[in-house]
Amino acid sequence: MQLSDFGRKLTGEAGILQLMDDLGKAMAGQELTAMFGGGNPARIPAVTDALKKSLEATVRDDHKLAAMLGNYDTPQGNAAFIDTVVAFMNRHYQLGITAANVAVTPGSQTGYFMLFNLLAGPSNGARRRILFPLVPEYIGYADQGVAPEMFASVRPRIEKTGDHEFKYHIDFDGVEARLKKGDVAALGVSRPTNPSGNVVTDPEMARLGELAQKCDIPLLVDNAYGLPFPGVIKPKATLFWNDRTVLSISLSKVGLPSSRVGIFIGPAELMQALTSANAIVSLASPGIGQYIAEPLIRSDAILELSREVIQPYYFERATKARKLIDKHFPADLPWRLHRFEGSYFFWLWLDGAPVTSKQLYDRLKQRGVIVVPGEYFFPGLPAARAAWPHAKECLRLNFARPDAELEQGIPILAEEIARAYAAEPRTTRAKHLIIQK
Ligand code: PLP
Repeated sequence: MQLSDFGRKLTGEAGILQLMDDLGKAMAGQELTAMFGGGNPARIPAVTDALKKSLEATVRDDHKLAAMLGNYDTPQGNAAFIDTVVAFMNRHYQLGITAANVAVTPGSQTGYFMLFNLLAGPSNGARRRILFPLVPEYIGYADQGVAPEMFASVRPRIEKTGDHEFKYHIDFDGVEARLKKGDVAALGVSRPTNPSGNVVTDPEMARLGELAQKCDIPLLVDNAYGLPFPGVIKPKATLFWNDRTVLSISLSKVGLPSSRVGIFIGPAELMQALTSANAIVSLASPGIGQYIAEPLIRSDAILELSREVIQPYYFERATKARKLIDKHFPADLPWRLHRFEGSYFFWLWLDGAPVTSKQLYDRLKQRGVIVVPGEYFFPGLPAARAAWPHAKECLRLNFARPDAELEQGIPILAEEIARAYAAEPRTTRAKHLIIQK
């Protein structure tokens, strides 16, 4: 079978593909001690209950049930769902949007695939790129470019805080220098960021907004874990918006990943383009999630569920996991955790460790502890700079696991970290843009 370039691209050495496959095999093949690897939302009974009640109400309504199961919605999304989203965003954030500013896609993953390729790639003889102003960034973006080299990114500034913590900041000098090349089609950030849990600050967002304005390009903000729901964000953060911003919201992290609903809000012209692409790729987006979520968004129950159930759940799990990490990890070694600001993950940096995150992943897997090696989370770094040691010194950990997994898995992680540092030390030290505090 001969595949096209596009076919080879989708079946090739995609980091996410390999990893999902490996994670799947690891889960099927052995008794796991701790699954710190996956990206599923945790199963929270009160969330399942609220979703079940909404589904039951829809099923009891014959008219709605027939429409939910039997209709293709328009490629833009379900009309009632879109009206509810518009009213919700205007009610809470005064965006002043209309239905023309919204497009619903089969999950935000698919939405980004269409959006990235609508904006970047070959264009009038030039090559346009999506710029991530701060990496690490979401692994799921990395292989989404149909054209080669569709992503560019800038290394962050690293602020070391205390003995075992750090935080990333956007290096605006680097971003502005990159923008000067004139090939950037859009800026993209996830907020909070998967994998690091970093929340791009309000002033950073404002500055990105200004840069997008100056370059006349969209600013894509992926709110999968953030605002307005589930809102798993620790520091005060405001929803950033102007007429060049595209916000994405996902129903996945509020408990409906299998329903595949991504909501995009942005300039009407771009949302129309996304709708056209969706018509070609999918005809229409799945309806079930839109029907389940619509009453919850209309009544603001989704905010209450986020505030009263989802946020406390993840914050409690994060506190529990952090306590165990502080208790078990060797205090005399230079490991650091990214300051937890949001999302469902911890991002662990083994500063100067002589083994790579991939090696550590393999060792941990042997012991029934699954993590995600960090090196996949640096989309768009030029090859020379991808050799940046930091990119191979980090692990992503899903901390929202049951007590038993945290209590058994974290000591094993601690042992493997001690073992990693006990290996032959590297001769060269990594160079970082460090802000010492
Ligand atoms: N964006 C981020 C930052 C994510 O972490 C994920 C999923 O893990 C997605 C987008 C994709 O979400 P969806 O289920 O809406 O496709």
